[in-house]
Amino acid sequence: LQPLDIQAIRRDFPLLSRVFHGKPVVYLDSAVSGQMPLPVIERMSHYEREEHTNVHRGVSTLSQEATDRYEEAREKVRGFLGAASTREIVWTRGTTEALNLVAQSFGRMVVQEGDEILLSAMEHHANIVPWQMLAQEKGATIKVIPMNDAGELILDGLDELITARTKVLGLVHVSNVLGTINPVKEIIARAHAKGVPVVVDGAQAVPHLAVDVRDLDADFYAFSGHKLSGPTGIGVLYGKLAHLEAMPPWQGGGSMIRSVSWEKTTYMPAPGKFEAGTPPIAAAIGLGAALDYVQALGLDRIAAHEHELLAYATAKLSALPGLRVIGNAKEKASVLSFVVDGIHPHDMGSLLDGEGVVVRAGHHCAQPVMTRFCIPATTRASFAYFNTREEVDILVSAIQKAIELFK
Ligand code: PMP
Repeated sequence: LQPLDIQAIRRDFPLLSRVFHGKPVVYLDSAVSGQMPLPVIERMSHYEREEHTNVHRGVSTLSQEATDRYEEAREKVRGFLGAASTREIVWTRGTTEALNLVAQSFGRMVVQEGDEILLSAMEHHANIVPWQMLAQEKGATIKVIPMNDAGELILDGLDELITARTKVLGLVHVSNVLGTINPVKEIIARAHAKGVPVVVDGAQAVPHLAVDVRDLDADFYAFSGHKLSGPTGIGVLYGKLAHLEAMPPWQGGGSMIRSVSWEKTTYMPAPGKFEAGTPPIAAAIGLGAALDYVQALGLDRIAAHEHELLAYATAKLSALPGLRVIGNAKEKASVLSFVVDGIHPHDMGSLLDGEGVVVRAGHHCAQPVMTRFCIPATTRASFAYFNTREEVDILVSAIQKAIELFK
């Protein structure tokens, strides 16, 4: 593989030249939100300056043009995920909205009283709470696939955990806290063997690995634009067409209907019936441009670069006194959570901030993961394709400085 030209890439990210507290910024927080490269920002700006209107409305050239650009972005997402048809690509506000859509439309349809919803022990709240709300409404129960101390799912008992009452399995592809890459293809095959559909939270997977929803045989796959070099306010729900066709609409309003009368309303076919109201058009077009950008860099080259940074950072951090890496799975994407004896993760986060290093400290919207590891929070560094070894070195010396301070 030809390595990425990181210095050229970095010129596409004006934020990387900022200075905080007199120090050049080191952005190690792409798991919270990725940065957008200039071509994405410029594409959105071009839309807003010269192409802005609404979509799927009217006969004007302007509206037709905007609709074409918006639908072209949907086609880019289809290609990116390897889906069979654009009819399987639903625009949402993000992963959270996509997962709520599945729980409230598909979930309400298939889950009844006494049924079970199976989730993994490392889910983000976005793939827990919508299912709890549904379970409460229906009188269903949530069951959990456990994990080991390395942060890997324990799959020995999976076939017993999936019972005749299991109606859906929700699974994170890559953990936002532990970095674990779950063997989703295998888990999906085992769930399907028992007739159970699988909803995959791909928020942290798509920025780091090539995903093919047909190869995985996922029933649903959700992700957010802003973690994939795109803007906030846009996300995607992939769903197998047969599911989307069987599902009732979720939100009602304009655009999602075929005809409305006081007696009877009929709906658009999927994906239209799930897309009520005016969508974030510039954001969808921006996400399309982001997919072009990362695909031009090459997902394999991105993965190789990030993997190298992760290995380098893991070795360096593990050697620091009192530091413990949380999440030591064999298969990991570029997320590195850690705790240090005697230093609260929030204090660590603030001290790193003082050195210009942007990380996240907290429970990362995955409180059950904190409970599982008996820790209140972690400090998390996450790497993207524009990060460098020199930035990892700055992170390491900033942590060293904090350890010295707390001695
Ligand atoms: N799932 C995972 C694994 C995540 O990391 C995130 C973002 N922190 C989400 C879901 C929710 O994504 P969003 O806030 O963009 O809806």
